[in-house]
Amino acid sequence: MNQKDRLSSIQDKIRSAAATSGRNEDAVTLVAVSKTFPLEDILSFGNLGQLDFGENKVQEFIQKSDEHRSLKNAPAIQWHLIGHLQRNKVKDIVGRAHLFHALDSVRLGKSLNRHLEEVNSSLSCLIQVNVSGEDSKFGISPSELDQFVDQMLGFDQLRLKGLMTLASPSHNSNEVRPQFAHLRALSESVSDRLTFDDFPVLSMGMSSDFEVAIEEGATIIRVGSSLFGGRTYESA
Ligand SMILES: *Cc1c(COP(=O)(O)O)cnc(C)c1O
Repeated sequence: MNQKDRLSSIQDKIRSAAATSGRNEDAVTLVAVSKTFPLEDILSFGNLGQLDFGENKVQEFIQKSDEHRSLKNAPAIQWHLIGHLQRNKVKDIVGRAHLFHALDSVRLGKSLNRHLEEVNSSLSCLIQVNVSGEDSKFGISPSELDQFVDQMLGFDQLRLKGLMTLASPSHNSNEVRPQFAHLRALSESVSDRLTFDDFPVLSMGMSSDFEVAIEEGATIIRVGSSLFGGRTYESA
């Protein structure tokens, strides 16, 4: 399949998963995860109308977003940082990230807030929650979320829009569905303290499980390999 067919196939699946659960397809934003793929591929998706892209490595995020910015007449891409951010790199994402998906520690929140104050700016963030409970994953544990949200409220330059998670790497929907449902329940329990328009943002679901995630309430799905093809090296 070419790029256009891959994109329409994902869009069809989004539509039917939304319909299955009585949701409007417009309530789901597709973030195309472009890690390891060149800007050229991103721009051709951009010309097909796909405008949200996600990168998980800061270096690659900076390089591609800056290259994009330097182009004339390029599609109006919005860049999402979906991976872990080290505190010494906070200044690199401010002004570049449309949405940061991986706020995962008080120290990071504090560093981001301090830098944002200095440059008189704000940043839309999602709190990464580790609902699968795997030690290898970043994210706040569900039992600590409530307290974490309270701590983030002291950081005025952070716009807390919702939650993000990575489910277990499983193709079994019976295993991932409860994890997505859990994230949605958590977002409802803290929603009184978040800043959102209609619903809190729920960033969940990847190539292998985005339809289940939509059925469970995802408002952002992050799809890489089903759009770009297999990655020749893993950038996780
Ligand atoms: C790579 C990645 C994705 C996309 O994974 P695919 O399986 O290629 O769709 C989604 N979210 C994060 C945080 C990633 O690092």
